[in-house]
Amino acid sequence: MIDSHCHLDLPQLFSSVDSVLERAKSKGITRLLIPGTTPNGWHRQQVLVNSNVSDIDIDIALGIHPYFIEQCELKPALDTLETLLRNNKNVAAVGEIGIDTAINCPLHIQHDVLNAQLSLAKRYRLPVILHHRKSHHLLLAALKQRQFDSGGVVHAFSGSVEVAMQYIEKGFYVGIGGTITYPRGAKTRASVKALFGEFSDRILLETDSPDMPMHGRQGQTNEPAYLIDVVNGLAELLEQDASHIIDITTANYHRLFHRDGLSNPTKKTLAL
Ligand SMILES: [Zn+2]
Repeated sequence: MIDSHCHLDLPQLFSSVDSVLERAKSKGITRLLIPGTTPNGWHRQQVLVNSNVSDIDIDIALGIHPYFIEQCELKPALDTLETLLRNNKNVAAVGEIGIDTAINCPLHIQHDVLNAQLSLAKRYRLPVILHHRKSHHLLLAALKQRQFDSGGVVHAFSGSVEVAMQYIEKGFYVGIGGTITYPRGAKTRASVKALFGEFSDRILLETDSPDMPMHGRQGQTNEPAYLIDVVNGLAELLEQDASHIIDITTANYHRLFHRDGLSNPTKKTLAL
């Protein structure tokens, strides 16, 4: 079982990462991906990969998250990002990048940073991990305008099946997380059910921990061990075995993030 999106470099999880990984392993997590958020976070990601002695394989993506754009010195950060992508063949994707219309950061700046990072992903033939909030139309337009053809995942997907289809047509995968564990996530549950019928080869699992607590765990720090709640929620929704969902989504993950056959990058160190 693979958690395709968990922020182990953020303080809530980083401070007790050994026990977080131990609990994840006990629930069947075999691999996880840590998306990037800031230059400081990129260094913590490096520490996590290089010091990983757990049985869980760790992949990383590097990028500037919209939440943190205003904390970054953008020019040096983007230059550093380019250097890291050029020198590290073990980076799985560019992300987490995107547009969030609910934050104060001006949209034109978010657009500039997104476009710069889409260009880097294109140059280094890497998929992207997209963050959205009330911004599907803006993201889809940006992908179209850049003729972005390197694929990726729209993470923590919520929305209609029509929107999901627009990403799938652009070669994207759809990240499914805790939203489907909530009764109020009816729209997303319906979308996921429809998608799984025809496009089960485009679904990934994720927690987005430490955020996005699962239904019934509100108020607790989310962590990769709770991915099992998403799997069980999907199994119930789709009336399929949990093991079947795990098998499909594991294959999907490797197809997206390990295109060159590299399946065990944690055995190599990362020089960030
Ligand atoms: Zn995230």
